[in-house]
Amino acid sequence: MTTVVPPASPREHLSRESTRHTLRIQNAILSATREHLTGLGFTELLPPIIGPVTDPGGRGSKQVDIDFYGHRYKLMTSAILYKQASLLAFDKIFCIAPNVRLEPLETCNTNRHLAEFHQIDVEISGATREDAMAVAEGIVVNAVRRVIAERSAELAALGRSPEAFTELLEWPFDRMTHADAVANLRGLGLEQSADAEIDWRNEEILSSKASRPFFVTDYPKGSRGFYDRESRTEAGRLRNFDLIAPEGYGELTSGSEREYEYARIVTRMRESGENPAKYGWYLDMVRDGIPGSAGFGIGLERLTRYVAGLTSVWQASAYPKIPGVVSA
Ligand code: AMP
Ligand code: MG
Repeated sequence: MTTVVPPASPREHLSRESTRHTLRIQNAILSATREHLTGLGFTELLPPIIGPVTDPGGRGSKQVDIDFYGHRYKLMTSAILYKQASLLAFDKIFCIAPNVRLEPLETCNTNRHLAEFHQIDVEISGATREDAMAVAEGIVVNAVRRVIAERSAELAALGRSPEAFTELLEWPFDRMTHADAVANLRGLGLEQSADAEIDWRNEEILSSKASRPFFVTDYPKGSRGFYDRESRTEAGRLRNFDLIAPEGYGELTSGSEREYEYARIVTRMRESGENPAKYGWYLDMVRDGIPGSAGFGIGLERLTRYVAGLTSVWQASAYPKIPGVVSA
């Protein structure tokens, strides 16, 4: 991969041939995903952009406040709270949701972080982690098939060979636990905490050793939000997963079974330093009962970057906001 210079203006970015090729590939990924999920019985909902509370997130990203008639509201960092709510209407939902996260400045060099991005967000009532993983796998395989079938000229123009996906098309994807990933990294002489997310650099190293996407499961409790369900048999282990792309492209997806019982959610909020009083509408809803579920979010620009073989994730956005860079 060669270095590419971020666009000086929307005109420069949007009139590049490479941007057009990339956005056509992204368009094929979106249409393929919508058709695929609709065919599986999912209902697409339009996601909220603002609300009194949003995903607390982690890893140092900050939320953006707005003044909502004298009340402090947030731009969505993820749709998770509304995804759980949506299951009161339908058993299987998805949305293509915009997220705004003021990521820490150090992420401007990861090639994987934007301050504004989109998730293909899926939630399934009554599902297990394994059910959700199978749906995530199906979306990625189906999207890659569609791009190869319909956008081979764009792939070729971007220098991306369809052979990069030969192993991907032989799914199911491999899986390892977070503990295995930590052991692998330590075996390579790298430092990696057993109680935290995989470091950015280590994630890239694990990814670069793979030739097709793979799952990492069972992250430790302290590393994730209050909504990832804790195992009932192994305390401290979450019933969650990440899907990691090969070739160094890194994380594509995070997902999990969800906590849905009021007392457990309040406990998990407190354990993770969140004040339950902030979550009024959400906790009222949970107290009255919501279904158990599992779901995930696939970073659309990350998936596009991987499929198109791009150096950096900003190339996969029509209007990129790179952390810390003042832009259109
Ligand atoms: P998370 O729940 O934080 O893991 O976010 C879900 C997915 O969104 C991740 O697996 C990434 O694919 C994508 N994502 C998260 N943060 C960013 C970011 N700052 N820029 C681009 N994509 C992101
Ligand atoms: Mg994640």
